[in-house]
Amino acid sequence: MNGNPPAGRAPLYAAVSERDWQDWRWQQSHRVRSVEVLEELVHLTADERQACESTTEPLPLGISPYYASLMAADDPQCPVRRQAVPTMAELGVVDSEYDDPLAEEENRVAPGLTHRYPDRAMLYTTHQCAVFCRHCNRRRKVGDPTSAPTKADLDAAVRYVAGHPELRDLLVSGGDPLSLSDERLDELLGKLRAIPHLQIIRLATRMPTTLPQRITEELVQRLRRHHPIYVATHFNHLKECTSEAALALNRLADAGFVLANQMVLLKGINEAPAMVREMNQWLLKQRCRPYYIFQCDAARGTHHFRTKVSSGIKIIEGLRGYTSGLAVPHYVVDLPGGGGKVPLIPEYLVKHEGTKLTFRNYEGKLFSYDEGE
Ligand SMILES: *Cc1c(COP(=O)(O)O)cnc(C)c1O
Ligand code: SF4
Repeated sequence: MNGNPPAGRAPLYAAVSERDWQDWRWQQSHRVRSVEVLEELVHLTADERQACESTTEPLPLGISPYYASLMAADDPQCPVRRQAVPTMAELGVVDSEYDDPLAEEENRVAPGLTHRYPDRAMLYTTHQCAVFCRHCNRRRKVGDPTSAPTKADLDAAVRYVAGHPELRDLLVSGGDPLSLSDERLDELLGKLRAIPHLQIIRLATRMPTTLPQRITEELVQRLRRHHPIYVATHFNHLKECTSEAALALNRLADAGFVLANQMVLLKGINEAPAMVREMNQWLLKQRCRPYYIFQCDAARGTHHFRTKVSSGIKIIEGLRGYTSGLAVPHYVVDLPGGGGKVPLIPEYLVKHEGTKLTFRNYEGKLFSYDEGE
């Protein structure tokens, strides 16, 4: 060692062997879980330190060494750091926030299974994640080890899906389902694939962002046997778009997984349309299609992340027309209380008189269109 850590590693990890660094199990078991280790990585503000030491915080500290290495040591506003390091704002009490903002427990039909829409449902498989995101909308549940479903729970959920022929799409979520071993995932997906009416399976994972080493060749070869599988990724900022992440996405795409990104809109982190445009173009290059931008849900302890709705609409306006339509996701608000997702779009129809419609295009120029009688 000459004292310089390999590219992409914080100095703290300079002496870790390349073999360990590339091993997702090493990364997972060496997550930053204490303020002492965190302090060796970044210069904590008093507020961050106090939040880390707080015992009332429901979502624990947990950051993979890989993701921790993307944090700026001297900038508390670093977009990666803000997503991973707790601040005292999380402990703030705001009336309009909920433990379960999307009423997932109310719409629960079997252990961990939320069936809200006519033809699809969502399954909570584990409470583990490579990084505990500070904006997590399932933060209370994810932080609680007792929320992890048992094997019997998962079997009961699979039985429910099997007994409901209207379910043609299942979102396998968590926590992060890729925290499960290859064997357990293989077994679960095998049971799901045996259900004839289940057309597609979606795996919602943050691993390509937070622990890309998890996307091994063995994993993709095992899971591809259960195709068609879609993978819902969660990239929020250009800073997360590394060569490791690109490798993980390409490996998935090469193995036939269809990739779709779900970004969570976060105040002061990813509100700049130009950044989102560049990130989405990068995602498309890795064959990952921007799918959703979520308005940050009203989960307790996340008010400091919530933006005005106009901020999301501005992002869509900054994409449409300026770049490939493929890079333009749907901006949605998931309504509190289980109302589901509703899309918000900029207003392009400026006047509608009789059969004559006036539109503005992305540049603000006006055009008329006659829809006829
Ligand atoms: C978001 C969500 C889905 C999937 O919704 P799509 O719009 O099809 O991506 C399914 N079930 C629940 C409970 C959800 O919250
Ligand atoms: S990876 Fe997903 S489930 Fe896990 S903490 Fe982040 S947002 Fe929550």
